[in-house]
Amino acid sequence: MSPLLDVKDLVKHYGVGQGLLGRLFGAPPRKVQALNGVSLHVGAGETLGLIGESGCGKSTLGRAILRLHEPDSGSVTFGGVDVTALDTGGLKAMRRRMQIIFQNPYASLNPRKPVGEILAQPLRLHRLAEGAALRERVREMLEHVGLRAAHADRYPHQFSGGQRQRIGIARALILNPEFVVCDEPVSALDVSVQAQIIDLLARLKRELGLTYLFISHDIAVIGYVSDRVAVMYLGEIVENGPARAVLRRPYHPYTRALMSAVPRVDRADQQQERVRLHGDLPSPMDPPPGCRFHTRCGFATDLCRSVAPLRRQLEEDRMVACHHFPEPAP
Ligand code: SF4
Ligand code: MG
Repeated sequence: MSPLLDVKDLVKHYGVGQGLLGRLFGAPPRKVQALNGVSLHVGAGETLGLIGESGCGKSTLGRAILRLHEPDSGSVTFGGVDVTALDTGGLKAMRRRMQIIFQNPYASLNPRKPVGEILAQPLRLHRLAEGAALRERVREMLEHVGLRAAHADRYPHQFSGGQRQRIGIARALILNPEFVVCDEPVSALDVSVQAQIIDLLARLKRELGLTYLFISHDIAVIGYVSDRVAVMYLGEIVENGPARAVLRRPYHPYTRALMSAVPRVDRADQQQERVRLHGDLPSPMDPPPGCRFHTRCGFATDLCRSVAPLRRQLEEDRMVACHHFPEPAP
């Protein structure tokens, strides 16, 4: 069966100007290589967890899939439709089916509008409901996310962080989408509230038959919500596969470094050698040659420093992009 979402070789570079010295010396404009040929797929009803450090391109990928940022090249196919080829009208229709929940619910809610208005706006824009039917749909959606009908008259600042994220979720789901990009939906929340929102998203997924791309830098969150996992480093997917397999037996040194930062309870995992992450994420304006991870990888060889590893397809839907793991290069 073909996947609901199929992303192939997505590329997105941002121009960031030359900088002051560059302008003085006539240097060419610099580019941030945010996405460097990203491919992934998500099956209907599945949650694909996308993990990586902040600044690695996760949000750019989520937005490029929805064409909130236009990708430079590559393709996004959703339900058999080529999203990258849609005109404005086609894209508007597609937005009903593909939605996004943002990290910071407060920044994404209009402070001057009551919550009922915020939720009604997408319904009006798509001419889906008006009058009593529209108010009924807003009430239904508020209750779906654990709020009350009376909350429709209040303004965003009158809610707690967790409640605001519930409003953000209601706004994303009010059009009945099939697919939702959850972009760090709990990262801005108190730890005590995170579990409630994660459970809410899981319940809504079951009840409404949703498919998620769930973005997080928190491996515990990713491990909890994901059916499959994709690991991103400097604009590239370095490993992906079933969540259990990737998180219990990671192949790529970067995934292993992320995992070994997490305290584990089961003994078998503690015996796995700890892989430490050295230094900071290099600038996406000037990514290292060869394997982009080589500047921080304890296993890097001359081959790694000069040749980018191929994406190798392994058993049961697993991919890894490394010269030396799972088995050494000859
Ligand atoms: Fe490390 Fe080399 Fe593998 Fe890159 S290709 S992750 S540098 S061992
Ligand atoms: Mg982000």
